[in-house]
Amino acid sequence: MHRILIIEDEADIAENLRYNLKREGYLPDVAESGELGLKLALDENKPPSLILLDVMLPGMSGFELCRRLRREPLTEKTPIIMMTAKAAEKDKIAGLETGADDYVTKPFAVRELLARIRALLRRTTERSFEVYEDDRIRIDVGEMRVFCDRKKIELTRKEFALLVYLVKNTGRVPGRQQILDNVWGYSYYGDSRTLDVHIRRLRQKLGSGGDCIETVVGIGYRFIPCKS
Ligand code: CA
Repeated sequence: MHRILIIEDEADIAENLRYNLKREGYLPDVAESGELGLKLALDENKPPSLILLDVMLPGMSGFELCRRLRREPLTEKTPIIMMTAKAAEKDKIAGLETGADDYVTKPFAVRELLARIRALLRRTTERSFEVYEDDRIRIDVGEMRVFCDRKKIELTRKEFALLVYLVKNTGRVPGRQQILDNVWGYSYYGDSRTLDVHIRRLRQKLGSGGDCIETVVGIGYRFIPCKS
């Protein structure tokens, strides 16, 4: 069951969201301030699957909090939907620049928000796996270990995240930007050649298993399970 953290200081909005999320089968938690929201978001015993974040909060603002959450390893990938009272384009952009995945403008229809929550959760929990194994490669996600032909491969965190992302998308060809967004984060605006450099190193390190990452010219890269 998905835990959803609502960070909202307006009690009636928070209660309305809590009620509707619960009715949809989610486990909602409410924080009335950014400070409390941060504390609940970083609770390792019950990490939220998704965060609904109000922009206008007393004390720490939603933008500031979003930036903080993106810097923490536990919440760097947690889907965040910003709730803003301002329809101004610059606020939407500011929200996405701080690392939010989506935003809704108040007043919003709960049904629309629920649809966005479902879409985000589907995107982030799709094909999740703990252990991947084919004829050559074995990946243990929890232990962050990769083996090729039973030999342990030493990967950097980024190389590991990149490999796991491609494996999770087996059967699809994620585009270059999509890979950058998911592995490097939405806040990454650097050189996209970084991706090619990481792919090259990953292939080298995987040695005989390196062929599992195929270049799809003009689009991106795809993972192909190794068959002996
Ligand atoms: Ca507010």
